[in-house]
Amino acid sequence: IPRAQRGLPQKRSLPGVKHIIAVASGKGGVGKSTTAVNIALAAASMKKRVGILDADIFGPSIPTLMNLKGEPELTEHGDNLIPLTNYGVKCMSMGFLVDKEAPVVWRGLMVMKALQQLLHQVEWGNLDLLVIDMPPGTGDVQLTITQQVILDGAVVVSTPQDIALIDVVRGTNMFKKVDVPILGVVQNMSLFICPNCNHETHIFGDGGAMRKAQDMGLPFLGDIPLHAEICDLSDQGKPVVISRPDSPFADCYKSIATKI
Ligand code: ADP
Repeated sequence: IPRAQRGLPQKRSLPGVKHIIAVASGKGGVGKSTTAVNIALAAASMKKRVGILDADIFGPSIPTLMNLKGEPELTEHGDNLIPLTNYGVKCMSMGFLVDKEAPVVWRGLMVMKALQQLLHQVEWGNLDLLVIDMPPGTGDVQLTITQQVILDGAVVVSTPQDIALIDVVRGTNMFKKVDVPILGVVQNMSLFICPNCNHETHIFGDGGAMRKAQDMGLPFLGDIPLHAEICDLSDQGKPVVISRPDSPFADCYKSIATKI
């Protein structure tokens, strides 16, 4: 039964944008934004025209990760927002529109309106790939995004801890309900590599997300180690794919980018 007849809002494509991928996670702090940014930069390094939409309205991290700040300008005729660009990737984020110090309550009232604008009033131009950094979890905001934009698929990021794995199941079920294919699972921070001696430790156990992905019949897209360099470079706004393009970490993200 068509969505309209089921009383569901019509999904829309974004003009000029070929592929739209959501990067999601069941909970916060698993490395979703870090993964989204590095995948986007990896795709851009392969000569793709790439954009990042930061839909994490309450905790936008794209401005920091992409070392961007300032207010987006409006297009000459309409009231569309022009994305800010760094490292060859176009970016739009709630963080550009709202003061970091703005009270959460006020932001709460603005959320749906702001989300509409972020989804449908950004002048992306021609893009091969738009990566949407989703808010963590599976609430109303996430559902609105999946219902309003035609997503080609979703990448689910998880750490190997059990609680995060339960969230993977919840996250994938949400996408299934709204007919968005899951492109696969990325396991983040499973393997700790000591920056001093390069000793490798599976601090949370070995391969939990990989097994979960296999059990659920989902593709396993890759494993990104926990390494201080990934974190430090992100904090500096120079993600590892840009700063250390020849590192094994950059290779991990590039390998994932080729699979989505
Ligand atoms: P989320 O978007 O899921 O909330 P973030 O991408 O903001 O998570 O990551 C949370 C923190 O973990 C950040 O400080 C980030 O730099 C760090 N981080 C993410 N992935 C890694 C990794 N593979 N190795 C080391 N630190 C990481």
